[in-house]
Amino acid sequence: LNIQSIDLYSLLKDVLKLLEGKANTKNIQFEFHCKLNQVRIKGDLDRLKQVFINLINNAITYTPGDGVVSINLLDSDGKVRISVKDTGVGISKEDIPRIFERFYRVDRARSRNSGGTGLGLAIVKHLMEAHHGSISVKSKLGEGSEFIIELPKEVILKDGES
Ligand code: ATP
Ligand code: MG
Repeated sequence: LNIQSIDLYSLLKDVLKLLEGKANTKNIQFEFHCKLNQVRIKGDLDRLKQVFINLINNAITYTPGDGVVSINLLDSDGKVRISVKDTGVGISKEDIPRIFERFYRVDRARSRNSGGTGLGLAIVKHLMEAHHGSISVKSKLGEGSEFIIELPKEVILKDGES
């Protein structure tokens, strides 16, 4: 990993800009709420970008037209929490434990035309572990899904500490 200090707010703005076109074609609205002023974490910029592209791209892909994808950035007990929530098809209780497996896709027949390989979330999970973070999911079939990432905040050391 190429570890550097990252401004999460602008990283997420960049990713939303990148995926705006795809969301527009489905008339999906983005909402971005940030309840933190300065959100810096230590991590690999390109890899973390890949994480958020995967999650937000999934949210768009698995949400029918006219839905909403909301991104929330907040402080949780000294950690940074990023939530990606959609109003999409949702994931059943049975499938939830399996979606982070490599090549696992819910309903292969239906999702065949959406063209994925089933690797996105396996990569996301791996990268979260490499960043000492975690990922969890809440979802209800037919109602939508929420993927929640928690990462350690960058510790700003005072002069003299190292
Ligand atoms: P790709 O490798 O291109 O990302 P993929 O999107 O199928 O392919 P994953 O991102 O790993 O693979 O997701 C695995 C499966 O989990 C998906 O096929 C889909 O069935 C389900 N899934 C992922 N995100 C969502 C979501 N936001 N809403 C509903 N189902 C989802
Ligand atoms: Mg995917």
